[in-house]
Order: sequence, then structure tokens, then C-alpha cells
Amino acid sequence: MNHNKEAKCPVCAMEVMQHQNEVVYQQMHFAFCSEQCKVRFLAHPHLYIGYPGIAAPIQEGQVVLKRRRLRLDQPLSVEGKVLVDEVLRGMMGVNAVTVAGDTIEITYDLLQVSLEEMETVIVEVGARLGGDWAERLRRALIHASEELEIEASEVTPPRHYLP
Ligand SMILES: [Zn+2]
Repeated sequence: MNHNKEAKCPVCAMEVMQHQNEVVYQQMHFAFCSEQCKVRFLAHPHLYIGYPGIAAPIQEGQVVLKRRRLRLDQPLSVEGKVLVDEVLRGMMGVNAVTVAGDTIEITYDLLQVSLEEMETVIVEVGARLGGDWAERLRRALIHASEELEIEASEVTPPRHYLP
């Protein structure tokens, strides 16, 4: 087998090397552009690969665009702003980021990235998310609704399907 052969990341459709971040799932080999795409695939594989004879939404070019606002505990410093902007833009599925004062506005494809995943990287670079109960509740509700939406988009197995 040619180890340099190119494959496609099933989550974001980027060209990748065949063994990059490799995963074997149901005796099939998959390669991923990033850890992010790999984790996402493992959480909901059939959202990305469907089933034999049934294409997944993402394979048919579907995107689930979301635009959301996140409130921070306090306005970011100039460096903090640059950092947050950079890590978010570095994520797969993030289309646009605007950081202004204590507010981050993000446009993204839910099939590739979730608000919760973006919150994790925001916190990792040292920014603090708005901590009052209303803001926490709002975020928790978005996480739950995104999870439900992802589950609903997942392809269900055909009858008599045996993995
Ligand atoms: Zn990818």
C-alpha cells in the first residue's frame, strides 16, 4: 500500500495523508486533518459516513450554519483578543469571528464544530466566559440543543444492517 496516498477528512473534506490521525471504524480506515475532526467523528461516525447506500448529510454538501454570541467575564486585552481570534479561526468549521469588548460573535458549521468545543479553546487560552447564571443557563441550553440537532442529523442504519 502506498503510505503517501491522499485521503479526505470525512468531517471537513480536507485532503489528508492516508494515515494521518488514522482511525479504523467498522473495518474501514479513516484519516483526519486534525484531532478536532477525529474526536468529532468518533462521537458521531454516521453523521459523516452514513451507511452503505445512504449518504450522510455532510457527504451531500449540507452545512448547518450557526451564528452565536458569547459573553466574556470582562473585555479582553489587545493580546487576548488576538489570541482568541486566532485559536477560533484555527478550528475546523469556524467561518467568521468578531471579538469586540466582552463579546465574541462566531459563525460556524455545526456539522463540524460545536459551541461547547469552541468554549473549551477560548478558556484554554485564558479568557473567562461570562459567569452569571443567565449566561451559564443560556450556554447550557445551546449545548443541549446542538447535541439534539446533531443526533437528529445522524443517519439511521438501514433495516437489516449488520456492522
Ligand atoms: Zn478535518
